[in-house]
Amino acid sequence: MTLAQHGAYGETGVWRPAYSPEWVAAQEMVEGWCRGIGMDVRQDAVGSVWGKFAGSEGGKSIVSGSHIDSQCPGGRYDGALGVIAAYVAMRTLVEQHGLPRRTLEIVSLCEEESSRYPASNYWGSRAITGRIAPEDPEHVVSLDGATIADGMREVGLDPTRVLEAKRDDLDYFIELHIEQGPLLEQAGLPVGIVTGITGPREYWVTVTGRSDHAGARPMDTRRDPMAGAAEIISGVINTAHRMGRPAVTTVGRIAADPNLSPAVPEQVAFTVDARHPDPEQRAVLFARHETLMREIATRRDLDLTWEITWDHDPQRCDPELVALLEKSAKNQGIPHMLIPSGAGHDAQQMAQVARTAMIFVRSKDGRSHTPAEFTSVEDAVAGIEVLTAALHRLAY
Ligand SMILES: [Zn+2]
Repeated sequence: MTLAQHGAYGETGVWRPAYSPEWVAAQEMVEGWCRGIGMDVRQDAVGSVWGKFAGSEGGKSIVSGSHIDSQCPGGRYDGALGVIAAYVAMRTLVEQHGLPRRTLEIVSLCEEESSRYPASNYWGSRAITGRIAPEDPEHVVSLDGATIADGMREVGLDPTRVLEAKRDDLDYFIELHIEQGPLLEQAGLPVGIVTGITGPREYWVTVTGRSDHAGARPMDTRRDPMAGAAEIISGVINTAHRMGRPAVTTVGRIAADPNLSPAVPEQVAFTVDARHPDPEQRAVLFARHETLMREIATRRDLDLTWEITWDHDPQRCDPELVALLEKSAKNQGIPHMLIPSGAGHDAQQMAQVARTAMIFVRSKDGRSHTPAEFTSVEDAVAGIEVLTAALHRLAY
């Protein structure tokens, strides 16, 4: 609630895009908390905040954290809870057991949501993996056309130095996050141990036919791209439905050209967002969508093209870390289950440079990316207890 004062939106929301004054204030608050418990604090080249308890043994770091940028508007918990969880866990460990044997670090990552810069693609965590090209900052633009390099300069960061955020000294990364979906609630459980993160792919599909008069052109002589799009849209959605959980397919954006009520459009374009955490099933889902789109276009004599606008491989969580988290929950009597993540997370990126896993806590009504987002303190605490025990096991 304290962190949510920065960018407070309405009664329960936040509006805190990366590099905004609200985001800067929130990052400074996290820095202050970390300093307050004796951590060494720094900001990396893209503005992610790191707090560190150096281990007596040195070596590679054990990291926990998440992001504090939000959707516009978003809720108070998405990301922020993971930063707070890492802080509470590490503070508790040091209070109870003194400084760790292994180095513990907390990270508050920047621009996970892509709510300000749609193509930033996990800016903070991607910088840590060293996969931001030097020219990227001048090419990633916000919804209003400004580059992310401009945004960085506004908050005192030098966009030519993004490569300096790269880390090759991380051992583990554990991210606690709200579930953002209804599975834990349906199961009546506070905590989920994430087995893997789904692999989303987005198609931008264009169906082209012929524009005609809505009154004069008989139905049997039309090449109507809207009719084709409608059949494709219901077809791909039904395909995911028939495959069953955890396959999901969404058509969230559509554009008709011309967009007139008395005309058959010339062209209809729309997104198909399809996701599955299992690599084989994912390939099946995409193949079914592509076959269906081609079949419908051919039968209706329509031209069909698509572009894959993004495509992320599914990421399996580290099996040993998953087992450790399960054991941490079991030992403390915390009810839990294994769960796939349908949403994308920084953990996907971090898995390139560290052994990675995630803990989910229950979301009320499965809601997220809205001010209606809510997780009870009890559920948050249950997740933090799992995290704390795992960090204790790894670092002491
Ligand atoms: Zn998030």
